Amino acid sequence: MIDAPLAQPATGGRYLLAAMTPRVGEFIALRRDIHQHPELAFEEHRTAALVADRLAAWGYTVERGVGGTGVVGTLVRGDASAPGARRLGLRADMDALPIQEASGVAWASTRSGLMHACGHDGHTAMLLAAARTLAEQGRFDGTLHVIFQPAEEGGGGALRMMADGLFERYPCDAIFAMHNMPGVPQGRLVFRDGPAMASSDYVTITLDGTGGHGAMPHRAADPIVAAASIVMALQTVVSRNVDPLQMAVVTVGAIHAGQANNVIPAQARLELSVRALDREVRALLERRIKALVHAQADSLGVTARIDWRPGYAVLVNTPAETDFAREVALDLVGADQVTLHGPALSGSEDFSFMLERVPGSYLLIGNGVAAGSGGSPTEPRPGACMVHNPGYDFDDDNIAIGAAYWVALTERFLRGAEAAAR
Ligand SMILES: [Zn+2]
Ligand SMILES: [Zn+2]
Repeated sequence: MIDAPLAQPATGGRYLLAAMTPRVGEFIALRRDIHQHPELAFEEHRTAALVADRLAAWGYTVERGVGGTGVVGTLVRGDASAPGARRLGLRADMDALPIQEASGVAWASTRSGLMHACGHDGHTAMLLAAARTLAEQGRFDGTLHVIFQPAEEGGGGALRMMADGLFERYPCDAIFAMHNMPGVPQGRLVFRDGPAMASSDYVTITLDGTGGHGAMPHRAADPIVAAASIVMALQTVVSRNVDPLQMAVVTVGAIHAGQANNVIPAQARLELSVRALDREVRALLERRIKALVHAQADSLGVTARIDWRPGYAVLVNTPAETDFAREVALDLVGADQVTLHGPALSGSEDFSFMLERVPGSYLLIGNGVAAGSGGSPTEPRPGACMVHNPGYDFDDDNIAIGAAYWVALTERFLRGAEAAAR
């Protein structure tokens, strides 16, 4: 049953927001239910079943088990094979984190050591609220794919879904995703053109030398000296090779070698975190780090092995789709609730892989500002805690805004074919 039928679309999108608010009670309850039952990467069985069952009940064609525990729901309106008929993908993530919750909310996690500390419960609820509204009353013509992915938190669930044929089985002309952001006023929608989140690569450097007596270094090949030399040489990559107007990070976060003052060990190991906001800078970092490490090792008589493990890619929002998404937001919530071009983030997100295949845009929705920092002076809300903090909670007031945004975006994106045909 529909709680509050939507008014006929007028020219603006604000009607949607007003109409969505009384409909979202069910989804606030659902969000809290998901929050109470957090599941780690690729273990989102309960959450995925809950998503799939509801989508099926609302008339979606549902595929379960895409890339592990991923779910895709498809809704077609009009003639999907007509020339110019468009296909839209909306993506939410479902996984939780291995954190012991300390938010104090009544719907806190019932699972020890696990919690939804990144708001993926909220992302899932917002997309479900939109999915139901679109199934019942959506005015569009084309194909909508709602994509619920597993394992965003480092597990690369997006890549797993893509390896499972996500975009071959469910082709999309554009794809969009949304993440909540504490520290930004609740409900504010934040956009950014181009690179918006950093790549993150993991590097292990193993230096093999020749161990020996600390008193006879001339009969050893010392990997500690080589490691020290490499750590210093690596400092020149950002300072001397990267364009000073570009962002890059090379951090040696761990160095392991040796046991005793009079023993030269046979091996040393370095662990690096390497980040960039530009694909070319990322490639440059890899080239220069590899060249420097091998040259330094060679010059000091040890051999270097480099295990380069690519993490998430640079997240790049395409300009046309970001403009489109921004217009939807301006129409929905008005200019005073929209940041047209927000700052880039140093965090990483595996939606970046989807954006390497399909044009689209990733936006942020403010989760609230902490007391004393410009927000409400009297009522600190759990949502103002940074994500991945044990005190964090998704702000349920965002469900109406987020869902209305997805509905508005879908109706506008998938109206193109119908309009073009007239
Ligand atoms: Zn997270
Ligand atoms: Zn997250």
